[in-house]
Amino acid sequence: MALYSFVCFSLLLTVSAEFQWKHHNNEELPLVLQEVHNNCPNITRIYALSEPSVCNVPLYVIEFAQVPGFHRPYIPEAKYIGNIHGNEVLGRELLLGLAHYLCDQYRKNDPEIKALITNTRIHLLPSMNPDGWQLATDTGGKDYLIGRTNNHEVDLNRNFPDLDAITFDFERQGLSHNNHLLKDLTQLSAPLEPETRAVMRWIMSTPFVLSAAIHGGDLVANYPYDESKTGASAAEYSASPDDETFKELAMTYALAHADMASPTRRGCHTTSSDDVSYNFGKQGGVTNGAAWYSLKGGMQDFNYLATNAFEITLELGCEKYPSAELLETEWNRNREALVEYLWKAHIGVKGVVSDSKGFIPNAIISVVNCTGSVTKPIRHDVTTGPYGDYYRLLTPGQYEITATHTGHFQASRMVSVPKNQKSAIILDFRLEEFQGKTNWLQDLSSFGVYSPSLRNSQPRIYKRSLYEKVAETMLENKEIVKQ
Ligand SMILES: [Zn+2]
Repeated sequence: MALYSFVCFSLLLTVSAEFQWKHHNNEELPLVLQEVHNNCPNITRIYALSEPSVCNVPLYVIEFAQVPGFHRPYIPEAKYIGNIHGNEVLGRELLLGLAHYLCDQYRKNDPEIKALITNTRIHLLPSMNPDGWQLATDTGGKDYLIGRTNNHEVDLNRNFPDLDAITFDFERQGLSHNNHLLKDLTQLSAPLEPETRAVMRWIMSTPFVLSAAIHGGDLVANYPYDESKTGASAAEYSASPDDETFKELAMTYALAHADMASPTRRGCHTTSSDDVSYNFGKQGGVTNGAAWYSLKGGMQDFNYLATNAFEITLELGCEKYPSAELLETEWNRNREALVEYLWKAHIGVKGVVSDSKGFIPNAIISVVNCTGSVTKPIRHDVTTGPYGDYYRLLTPGQYEITATHTGHFQASRMVSVPKNQKSAIILDFRLEEFQGKTNWLQDLSSFGVYSPSLRNSQPRIYKRSLYEKVAETMLENKEIVKQ
């Protein structure tokens, strides 16, 4: 009996050790995640988002962490989302493969993967649009559009609240209120789909720092903003305050990919290798979103403008629905990039803001770039989470970092961010309370001021938002206006 059990157990191990490259259907997808969890029970957790797809398919996530299920201070959180467009299927299989790979390498004591999982909380959502996947698959997977949308025929990557319009409006008015803008939204242009609502709740309730959504149909790493500032439909570079950082994030993926950044590769929609139109290899494999074409209601810009997360959009191949035989090749072309990108959750500065009573959630971290001869504020603040912790992704250089919170004296420190970081610089702030000092100071603080080098500028208007409270208000009560 013991021998029989041993043989069965060995067979089970042998079977589960090999990941099969194929198109996993909606029933098989959670089984793959379950298998990964069975192999790595201590570092993984499977959960479903708050609501399923229109056709009632749960949106499953697998999480990798040293302590799954819990956010821990100094541990940044990152996510990958696949298959938002149902007929763009490569991301779905790559993320299943990545889950298997992370577990496998962890068990083999791969030092890089062990360090990554020990120091990062990673969430993988292989399919955001299982209904679209089903339709695309049932119809042969060859059409450029069939299965793109969800089962209500809504493009999920146009269904997020348009916060770009709000931030551009604030910019035009000269206001520096530049983050967590969901609270400023007064109306929705279209009803939120269940898949969108589920992902919004997820990203509003988890303190993500880094993210990428995986698409297909081209080969390029696309970064914010996706929406043009003038309304131009294409070819207008729409820079965010973190343009430098976003470029570095996108380039990290492109350079670690087999040939995304290769200038000699052929473009997906070109007729010859000399044709430079839409040949992203000739520009390093990266593009600003609106410089390609402008879109409203995308998930990427929503992440940046509603939360502390920096998200880019990865187009991972000319073919939206590659045949099963190509999947393993695509994995080998993307594996290094998928891992390398996750390390970007560790660039810049991180720390905890506290006072004599303990952690301070919702403190504001603002940054001035002091690299070179001209100091320049990065007009996009991040905020501290429930444990007072913050993560501020930055490119190499000199920065002044300022922590501000109502009822406290603000504090600023200079920091030098090095190249090739695998761990963010730790910069903690202990803020001193006002303790009943004059009211005017308190009032000034409640609106915030720029750090010392920018004192002559206008006051910053801070409207703080608590993740879940705001998400609930937004999701349940906003008036919907049909356009
Ligand atoms: Zn897409």
